[in-house]
Amino acid sequence: MLYQRSSQLFAEAEKVIPGGVNSPVRAFKAVGGTPIFVKSAKGAYLYDEDGNKLIDYINSWGPMILGHAFQPVVDAVIEKAKLGTSFGMPTEIETKIAELAVAMVPNIDKIRFVNSGTEACMSAIRLARGFTKRDKIIKFAGCYHGHSDSFLIQAGSGAITFGSPNSPGVTAGTAKDTLLAKYNDLDNVATLIEANKNEIAAIIVEPVAGNMGCIPPKKGFLEGLRQLCTENDILLIFDEVMTGFRLARGGVQELLNVDADIVCFGKVIGGGLPVGAFAARAEIMNYLAPLGPVYQAGTLSGNPLAMAAGLAMLQALDSDREIFKRLEEKTAYLAAGIDSVLKANKVEFTINRVGSMISVHFDAAPVFDFQTAAKGDNETFKKFFHGLLQEGIYIAPSAYETWFITDALTYEDLDFTIQAIDKVSKTF
Ligand SMILES: *Cc1c(COP(=O)(O)O)cnc(C)c1O
Repeated sequence: MLYQRSSQLFAEAEKVIPGGVNSPVRAFKAVGGTPIFVKSAKGAYLYDEDGNKLIDYINSWGPMILGHAFQPVVDAVIEKAKLGTSFGMPTEIETKIAELAVAMVPNIDKIRFVNSGTEACMSAIRLARGFTKRDKIIKFAGCYHGHSDSFLIQAGSGAITFGSPNSPGVTAGTAKDTLLAKYNDLDNVATLIEANKNEIAAIIVEPVAGNMGCIPPKKGFLEGLRQLCTENDILLIFDEVMTGFRLARGGVQELLNVDADIVCFGKVIGGGLPVGAFAARAEIMNYLAPLGPVYQAGTLSGNPLAMAAGLAMLQALDSDREIFKRLEEKTAYLAAGIDSVLKANKVEFTINRVGSMISVHFDAAPVFDFQTAAKGDNETFKKFFHGLLQEGIYIAPSAYETWFITDALTYEDLDFTIQAIDKVSKTF
């Protein structure tokens, strides 16, 4: 495959956009080479600017769970656009999507819409801090909650007591209020809580982690967090930006039957338009302006085009109860196929999967937290990525990313992918 036009477009982009991209992972830094510029997409396929067709396993990092250019979403956006694209005034469709989301997700009474997952998580912790009148939060190493300051934290020298910024521009003052814990390690969390008695407002967690590859919670981990939160008057925030409306109709709360206090959404909930949301029981949500004292706002929040896309997406997921079963079956089929060809080719690997989230790690040992995820062999991953690209298969350009399976994929696509992985892994 040739990528001449993509390369040219990237060179032009680099002159006026930092790194040529509007979000860093798109730049292929982790795998080398230059990014592919996409022209259009339909169903499970991307069509790039050079005329190549690619099977897409990223799907806009999750939102296109029913495939690209999903007709009901496209139609809803077009019809809405004809009526005006933004008003900064209430519209009926905001209530419609809120009602549907509240009906689909367990344990929430009210929901507030924002424009991204970042905004949802940022607002959720402000709400938690305001509600509990405490300042500190606990997050887990390797979990991603968007790019707001409080989350750009790495283990500091005093890792047990406070974190340090992992990006210039994040102040030490902000970092000291974020405590960093190890995913799947309840003892670690209990120790942090003990050392910061009555100071922790919230624990925020990806209930199935997807930003260090896919990492399932160990049995009892989420239940243990729930218990620690309840015992210590800490709010449990499930960041379901990735898992919400993907792993089950009601997200991980439904899938694993654990209740969170606040839930964050993004990705699927916007059907491919910029939407995020956070939700909780009424007592907590009523603490938000204009009812309560915690300020949060947005000129384009609840934008009619975004709400139309999100509503059409949620309606599709709500009306076909077989979708999540089909996604599970397709992804399990893919996982079994990859497993068998990598074994046959004597590759050292671990496959992690929950529902339609799957990741291949090039290390034989179990991957259950950030440290174990970081052990994967990145040189092998690079060969894997570029090899698959040559075969017309697009996976995320980083070993730390999950693949997002779409319902638009056929079993022929999956077989083609497994055969391509067989071919590519013979060259490792
Ligand atoms: C993608 C993601 C975010 C950030 O969402 P954006 O829309 O990119 O701001 C937050 N949390 C999780 C778990 C995510 O996967």
